[in-house]
Amino acid sequence: MTIELPSPPKIGMVSLGCPKNLVDSERILTKLRSDGYAMSGDYAGADVVLVNTCGFLDSAKEESLEAIGEAIAENGRVIVTGCMGKEAELIRERFPDVLAVTGAHQYEQVVGAVHEAAPVVASPYLDLVPERDLKLTPKHYSYLKISEGCNHRCSFCIIPSLRGDLVSRRPDAILREAEKLVAAGTKELLVISQDTSAYGVDLRHASYPLKSGGEVRAHMTDLARELGKLDAWVRLHYVYPYPHVDHVIPLMAEGLVLPYLDIPFQHASPKVLRAMKRPGNDAKVLERIKNWRTIAPDIAIRSTFVVGFPGETEEDFQYLLDWLDEAQLDRVGAFRFEPVEGAAANDLPDPVPEEVKEERYQRIMEKTAAISAAKLQAKIGRTLDVIIDAVDEDGGATGRSKADAPEIDGEVFLRDAGHLKAGDIVRVEVEDADEHDLYGVPA
Ligand code: SF4
Repeated sequence: MTIELPSPPKIGMVSLGCPKNLVDSERILTKLRSDGYAMSGDYAGADVVLVNTCGFLDSAKEESLEAIGEAIAENGRVIVTGCMGKEAELIRERFPDVLAVTGAHQYEQVVGAVHEAAPVVASPYLDLVPERDLKLTPKHYSYLKISEGCNHRCSFCIIPSLRGDLVSRRPDAILREAEKLVAAGTKELLVISQDTSAYGVDLRHASYPLKSGGEVRAHMTDLARELGKLDAWVRLHYVYPYPHVDHVIPLMAEGLVLPYLDIPFQHASPKVLRAMKRPGNDAKVLERIKNWRTIAPDIAIRSTFVVGFPGETEEDFQYLLDWLDEAQLDRVGAFRFEPVEGAAANDLPDPVPEEVKEERYQRIMEKTAAISAAKLQAKIGRTLDVIIDAVDEDGGATGRSKADAPEIDGEVFLRDAGHLKAGDIVRVEVEDADEHDLYGVPA
């Protein structure tokens, strides 16, 4: 069975007025693209039409009103933004059916209105952020997207064909967003992208001036260092083991970035990795992991693996299990291979029968649960920093250590913690552990 992906909602755009308005339209569309929307070149194919209006002169206003009228007549589902947003009453009077009216530069509002009018259906095959998070991300942690798209062509993945090649955001813009988030109460920044280690390649790692003076290079290490200066935990996701990743580890030892790396290895057998066309396929990665642990002894490495990829033999799978014994990764998620509509891997020979996939899945889960349990047992008696996610009515609280990203890793369950609140970072004495979680008490 092939996984069918939900088709993205399509947005039509009518952009009127001056070049500044055009830049606004581009910004809105870029944000919508990165949120998973597709574009429509005509009214008929659009799920919703945005009219970015101009209100500079009376003639421009009239042209804007005509454009809104045309979009209503041709499509019916219209959101108005731009300079005419100041005249919301006039627009609503003339076109009571418009879905929303927002003003110039109100990016969040217009994007929010589009999300409401034509929601994107979440899919674990396309989204970086776990589905539940979209609704529940609390104030104390925030996802920080640093780029969109991907230059790789992994054979099981269709992201590049949907989202295009890598487009990095400017580092100064990312830092501005991060500063705003921290000022608004974020205590933990979760850096995400399709390939965080490739950040800035498309910008040729150019330097950009900072408001505070100095400059920052569009490069993962430099960006991580600057983010580390803000008053928040910084957690790096979707890092591929390129050689330059070694330079981020000292930042962890210095306490600028959390000692945590999310590296989606997906497999260990060189043959399977070649068939997957994975980036950063490095034979020396085990050696490098050992070095990382010498520099930052508390580093937690999280990864995901696919079992039952076409052509995976028992020997390949055993190679993966032996590799895991050596690598001693802290957190592992495993998936049974499933063909995704449009992926090159669907045409590969030697599919693995479902029952073999299932059996391998059980074996990898058993192996990684045992590694995780042993690693967590070793934490009993230690005192760790824990960020609180929720406090319950019985005086208990749930939080996460530096080794745990929200939603995907383990948790720390606290007793006698009724005085705490979400977002507090406290010292916790670890009293117990199981396969995935820790139990403790505020120190
Ligand atoms: S690195 Fe591979 S799996 Fe990740 S988005 Fe790019 S093509 Fe897809």
